[in-house]
Amino acid sequence: MELCNPSVIRSLLGEEGTHLKKAYGQNFLIRPEVPARIADDCTDEPHSMILEIGPGIGCLTQELSARYDRVVAVEIDTSLLPILDKTLADFSNVTVINEDVMKVDLAALVGEYSEGRPVSVCANLPYYITTPILMALLESGVAFRSITVMVQAEVATRLCARAGDSDYGAITAVLGYYGETRRLFTVGASSFLPPPKVNSAVVRIDLYDRPRYVPKDKKLFFSLIRAAFEMRRKTLVNAISAKLPYTKEQISEALRSLGLPEQIRGERLSTADFCALADALSELAK
Ligand code: SAM
Repeated sequence: MELCNPSVIRSLLGEEGTHLKKAYGQNFLIRPEVPARIADDCTDEPHSMILEIGPGIGCLTQELSARYDRVVAVEIDTSLLPILDKTLADFSNVTVINEDVMKVDLAALVGEYSEGRPVSVCANLPYYITTPILMALLESGVAFRSITVMVQAEVATRLCARAGDSDYGAITAVLGYYGETRRLFTVGASSFLPPPKVNSAVVRIDLYDRPRYVPKDKKLFFSLIRAAFEMRRKTLVNAISAKLPYTKEQISEALRSLGLPEQIRGERLSTADFCALADALSELAK
């Protein structure tokens, strides 16, 4: 069955009396080379367990199943389950779970299905919920090896930006704490049914197995990033003093101690800089 063929997609949905749902971000892939390439590039470990989010009717799931030991796919839309039963009938290493990924206990799920295998995430993400899903994965405490996701092209640019780029934002600085992010390839809107308004891109995050940055006060580190980008037009001194219990003088002093200009804005600070600033501020508070 050619799962990337629009007529096949329509007829599978029609047989189950269902349809593509915008509310669930259902833009299904219609070019078979795209899921094949995402599956190829998502990890270098063939003995992995892959957690897929949103299998749809299973086009990427089949490609993952052919390459990796185990695939667990979490799909929110109950009406797709009978279709997945058919399309994945011959793929014995796949388990489909009918859940909202935001409500799943990811650590328990990985504990149950990975059997000690390295675990990676691979997904053509629903765009309405990209950042919350990424944050839930990163904050789950699961030692994922990599997270490979299709996102809107402009989101991919933000995720992969460098400090000082106009697209650099809080999510970029936060991602830098967890791992290294790179853009793999761009996918045109015409590769989807229905075509979204914008192009997409596949991004891979390779997570650090040991933390590269170890702020003394992790909560302060993340609060600094949030404060810096909530008011990104302001200088860091103004943005932080407006949100956190530090005086302008204390923040200036911390910046000086790091050799950073007092007028600097948050978008110029790398993840390492935010870590150093958090440490300098926690020293001052003593
Ligand atoms: N993997 C298929 C493909 O590439 O053609 C479908 C991708 S489609 C962009 C996103 C999928 O995520 C849909 O199947 C949608 O129902 C599912 N989805 C949306 N929100 C979800 C959630 N919160 N938890 C799990 N799956 C979700």
